[in-house]
Amino acid sequence: AQHPADVPLAPRYAALGGAYHVTVAPTPLPSPTLVHFNAGLADELGLSATQASDLTDILSGNASWPNYAPLASVYAGHQFGNWNPQLGDGRALMIAEIRRPDGTRAELQLKGAGPTPFSRGADGRAVLRSSIREYLCSEAMHALGVPTTRCLSLVTSPQPVFRETVEPAAIVCRVAPSFVRFGHFEWFYSRGQHDALAPLADHVIETHFPHLVGLPDRHAAWLGEVIERTARLIAHWQTVGFCHGVMNTDNFSALGLTLDYGPFGFMDAFRQHHVCNQSDFEGRYAYGAQPEIGQWNCSRLLQATLPLLGETEEEVGARATELYGRYSETFSVTVMRRWADKLGLREIRPGDADLVIRLLTLMQRGKSDFTRSFRHLARVQTDTDGPAIGVREEMADLAAFDAWVADYRSRLRAEGNTNDAERAERMNRVNPKYILRNHLAQMAIERAEEGDFSEVERLMTVLARPFDAQPEFEGYAAEPPPDQRRIEVSCSS
Ligand code: AMP
Ligand code: MG
Ligand code: MG
Repeated sequence: AQHPADVPLAPRYAALGGAYHVTVAPTPLPSPTLVHFNAGLADELGLSATQASDLTDILSGNASWPNYAPLASVYAGHQFGNWNPQLGDGRALMIAEIRRPDGTRAELQLKGAGPTPFSRGADGRAVLRSSIREYLCSEAMHALGVPTTRCLSLVTSPQPVFRETVEPAAIVCRVAPSFVRFGHFEWFYSRGQHDALAPLADHVIETHFPHLVGLPDRHAAWLGEVIERTARLIAHWQTVGFCHGVMNTDNFSALGLTLDYGPFGFMDAFRQHHVCNQSDFEGRYAYGAQPEIGQWNCSRLLQATLPLLGETEEEVGARATELYGRYSETFSVTVMRRWADKLGLREIRPGDADLVIRLLTLMQRGKSDFTRSFRHLARVQTDTDGPAIGVREEMADLAAFDAWVADYRSRLRAEGNTNDAERAERMNRVNPKYILRNHLAQMAIERAEEGDFSEVERLMTVLARPFDAQPEFEGYAAEPPPDQRRIEVSCSS
């Protein structure tokens, strides 16, 4: 077996220096229990030969990684549209930067390992409830193909943590190529420390954009890629019905990853104005608002990186405008391609956007389950004009829906898309059967709080294959029972 000391380190972020972070020792959690260890991810990280038991001390904050001083980074950000001049890792600690067997770098962070200078009076802890949600969702998103941070481990402890009530403490170990956020750039820009921007951008480039390393225009090129990645990310969220809940600029990744799982939610019934975060009173981060907020966040990133864009005002202005425009271009092309894929369309023709909007409108009126409706759509036959089995049961206005199906069939026939089995196979690879519904997470949380982690394990199994029919887990594809439709999730975590 391998010892953590044998894992090759690649401490690039640490090497940026004291303007970017402070070293902080984790505050140990008493009597830690390993709830889940992500063996697949451990393998990708080159840690599979390292005994989980050897790692548990580290993953619970009771020991440090050999030869690495844990650190908390400083950032700022726009929270619900309001500028906050100082945030930072208030309960996250970078515990290692390692070199993976494939040569790339990975940063490991403990979330909930105690206070840091950036905790702003809070306890630096995370509760089991929110840690289970982050763990399950990041792995579920990864399996859906959505760019995301990952989770390596989940540890809990009987240590009580008070939120609205007393809850058990927990620590997840998160993994990403880098945890740099839009807010890191905002921190340095807002303080006039413009010289600190380029090293940070170069760190991000070297860790995740190797094709840009050393190019004279690399900063603008990286910004273009982050903006495009962010647009594609949100197009992906929209088409799997994912709501992030707290799209503050400090929760936006400079790599275009889904980051900081809190009061997120996958929609059950489709609703354009669905708000998953009970603390979001104005619906700023409603499902339908996510694309625009993504662009606004990119505008904040561009503002903070103007000093990287050139020498003259004209040059900077022209570049920033061009980069900003990439968001809407990329978003509209990507999201339409994704909707078309969900309908099984090969080409995109005039009228297709309208076909999508009509379907979503019918779903909204029928309070139709978003995931189930799209999944059932694969069963529509083109060699009949009969009722569309499955998806029709999700609808309320049947006459309008039947008219829609007739148009959908004509549209499929118009491009010769009449091999129903082949199309269904394609559609089932983009329309998931299993998503992390709130009530499923809730069930796993309630069991875990009683010391039974089997439901976490089961959900990890089901959600690892979201596109495959898993007959033994049919119940996990169902919509929530009526009494479990309004589970409250808030910023409290
Ligand atoms: P969030 O809304 O979860 O993204 O958190 C916003 C900021 O508050 C981040 O800088 C977090 O590190 C910090 N924070 C949230 N919860 C805690 C906590 N329990 N202890 C310390 N800092 C926290
Ligand atoms: Mg955050
Ligand atoms: Mg219904």
